[in-house]
Amino acid sequence: MKLDGLKEDLAQRKAEHLYRSRKVLESPQSVEPIIDGKQVLSFCSNDYLGLANHPDVVSRFKQAADQYGVGSGSAHLVSGHTKEHHALEEELADYMGTERALLFSTGYMANLGVVSALCDRHSEIYEDKLNHASLLDAALISRAKRIRFPHLDTNNLEERLSGSESKNKFIVSDGVFSMDGDLAPIDKLFALSKSNKATLMIDDAHGIGVLGKKGKGSIEHFGLDNKQIDITMGTLGKAFGTAGAFVAGSEELIETLIQKSRSYIFTTAMPAAVAAATRESLNSIKEESWRREKLQSLISQFRKGASELGLTLIDSISPIQPIVIGSSEKTVSLSEKLLEKNILISAIRPPTVAEGTSRLRVTFSATHTEKHVEKLLTALSELS
Ligand code: PMP
Repeated sequence: MKLDGLKEDLAQRKAEHLYRSRKVLESPQSVEPIIDGKQVLSFCSNDYLGLANHPDVVSRFKQAADQYGVGSGSAHLVSGHTKEHHALEEELADYMGTERALLFSTGYMANLGVVSALCDRHSEIYEDKLNHASLLDAALISRAKRIRFPHLDTNNLEERLSGSESKNKFIVSDGVFSMDGDLAPIDKLFALSKSNKATLMIDDAHGIGVLGKKGKGSIEHFGLDNKQIDITMGTLGKAFGTAGAFVAGSEELIETLIQKSRSYIFTTAMPAAVAAATRESLNSIKEESWRREKLQSLISQFRKGASELGLTLIDSISPIQPIVIGSSEKTVSLSEKLLEKNILISAIRPPTVAEGTSRLRVTFSATHTEKHVEKLLTALSELS
């Protein structure tokens, strides 16, 4: 697009209720942040366990900043890989039960880095249609043949796999779908990957820390071990409350990524203090199962109340509980009306979701209270 067309394009987005803008926070991440000088009750953060401003996590961050400074100075392969990064990788591998884990600076980069290191134009990448944008982009830059199967449709996937002669079949799926909150049928994906000699990668950005008795994510939820899955990607900016991502898998996988993953090699390592703070979050994830239990109880409370109000929910056990509205215009208007009541819920519109399925993406945190959920349900009942 030429620069002189930008003004018109922006105006058109506004007219179509698709214009995106940012809200400026004046407080830490919490369920009651301060935005534009006003405290709101937020249901749109991915800080599912309430660790982003946990005093122990913050204090570990500060201590490590005192020891290591704020910048890591270079890429992991140059001189940016500190003892904190190394220890976090070992602890993550131990937690996930895999041979190794590797840190990336963001989940977006981890997905690009894994897929493009392992696939090329001779590969076939099978993706759920609702996979996260970073997985779709990853397949694009790998130059592999892309095959997108209908959401959760493992019959369709099976048919397409069985007709394939490719020697490098790569199945990749979100574990928990970021805009819908529902789960991939990981047990079936696993079985299909085995019977078709395909590699399986699960992006469990929204599952790790939250699902499974031990918080190991959607793979644990399905009764599988992470080491059975070829590649797991987890993000640190959601349940962990910090920033960055990791990939868990075999020794050979991780060593290959270190050699070949461009978004690992050619970027600055996350600050050591972020790695240190994440080690503290990992302790909470392991030891404080009450956070997951609390989350599940808030989710049940919300689902019960919302269905009594006749709202259209998606079949989701995760903290992502979208209310599907339909038109972008109506979704934006509802989000604005909620903000007038001091409730913050973002309006998710195309192209993030399909045309006609705009939604209020409600997310919960273990630091919400039953009262907060009641307040939300009351506000929703007063809309329309
Ligand atoms: N995968 C999924 C499913 C996500 O929802 C996200 C973030 N929204 C990412 C990957 C990217 O993670 P990050 O924010 O760390 O780049």
